Amino acid sequence: MEYRDHALYMEGVALAEIAERAKTPCYVYSAGEILQNFRAYNDSFGDVPHSVCYAVKANGNLALLKLLAEAGAGFDIVSGGELFRVLQAGGDPRKIVFSGVGKTMAEIEQALDAGIFVFNCESEPELGLINALAHRRGVKARVAVRVNPDVDAATHAYISTGRLAHKFGIDIADAPSLYERTRQLPNLLIEGVSCHIGSQLMDPAPVMEAVDRVLGLIDRLRASGFDIKHVDLGGGLAIAYKPEDVAPAIAAFVGDLRARVAGRGLHVFVEPGRSIVGNAGVLLTRVLYRKRTGEKEFVIVDGAMNDLIRPALYGAYHEIVPLRQCGRGKMKVDVVGPVCETGDFLAREREMEEVLPGDVLAICSAGAYGFAQSSNYNARGRAAEVLVEANKWRIVRKRETFEDLIRNEIDPA
Ligand SMILES: *Cc1c(COP(=O)(O)O)cnc(C)c1O
Repeated sequence: MEYRDHALYMEGVALAEIAERAKTPCYVYSAGEILQNFRAYNDSFGDVPHSVCYAVKANGNLALLKLLAEAGAGFDIVSGGELFRVLQAGGDPRKIVFSGVGKTMAEIEQALDAGIFVFNCESEPELGLINALAHRRGVKARVAVRVNPDVDAATHAYISTGRLAHKFGIDIADAPSLYERTRQLPNLLIEGVSCHIGSQLMDPAPVMEAVDRVLGLIDRLRASGFDIKHVDLGGGLAIAYKPEDVAPAIAAFVGDLRARVAGRGLHVFVEPGRSIVGNAGVLLTRVLYRKRTGEKEFVIVDGAMNDLIRPALYGAYHEIVPLRQCGRGKMKVDVVGPVCETGDFLAREREMEEVLPGDVLAICSAGAYGFAQSSNYNARGRAAEVLVEANKWRIVRKRETFEDLIRNEIDPA
């Protein structure tokens, strides 16, 4: 995005035009930026056999999935619903990895029927269930065990996953004996090891530490006769939310991974979500009112915590900029939505350009875990979504109507 003649553009499109025609609140994504990030991953692996499996949970819009599928991406899914989405978007089931601690029987059956590449298994009973369901179908299911390397990812507590106190994976120390026991499960192809230690990882060092521990495990498993063919190193790379943040570059990060896995004959999987779509999206919202209480100045906008919950849920920072630079000077405000919760804020004590009712703002870095975590709280229809491609834009998800809100409650029997 950049200002041209004081108007904010995404690729070749003035965001004000989208706000006017698609209305607000509205998510807008840049196809060019998404593809650039995907290619940064894909190209940086060079001649190392690899699969970049986009983590669908970051943003599962069909148009984005289709864009990535056509660019050659695989997908990391965590539910049957995400599998359905990927298949609807034309994704290749043979490039799907299925993660998550609580896969249901129905989801495992759905994934076996679709012919996904691998289940990243997170418990011993899950391995047993997959084996049984594969046996019933007369097939072999490829599995990797997600190990918990017990490293501190140094990120927000809610999105840190690699310590033993977290629900994810299997303690890496217990992994060798677990792999031994899987020899009793004839319908599994035990060919991989996976890990994922958290999200918004500003410092790649813990990831590299986890990689080294996982590679150590693979050496040990191979020495005991397991034919480990692939390693899945998860996602988690951070993006810059603040102008002064310096997020790790994708190419440098992949370069580090490459150096570590080189010469082992491993196919490398990664599962990036946020770093592909996060900075490719904004939430457009219009200023409704301004008001001052005894202590504070508020800017009340038409977007709210139901549209973007990250500030309320994680205390997350999102840069906020006006679509038109008016040069009115600075103000210090809380930017809040219409939802009846004090936690409904998009920014607090924020110093930003002075804005007035009617102005449209871009809430930046909202492409990941934005729409995906949105809800109908306060009976608010979920926002429209728009995809920008060079000089063109189109709506890729209609704004929800009042009828959409009650559809499943009319004659539910
Ligand atoms: C959430 C998640 C990802 C993606 O994380 P990002 O921080 O968005 O890159 C990848 N793998 C697994 C297993 C996840 O749970």
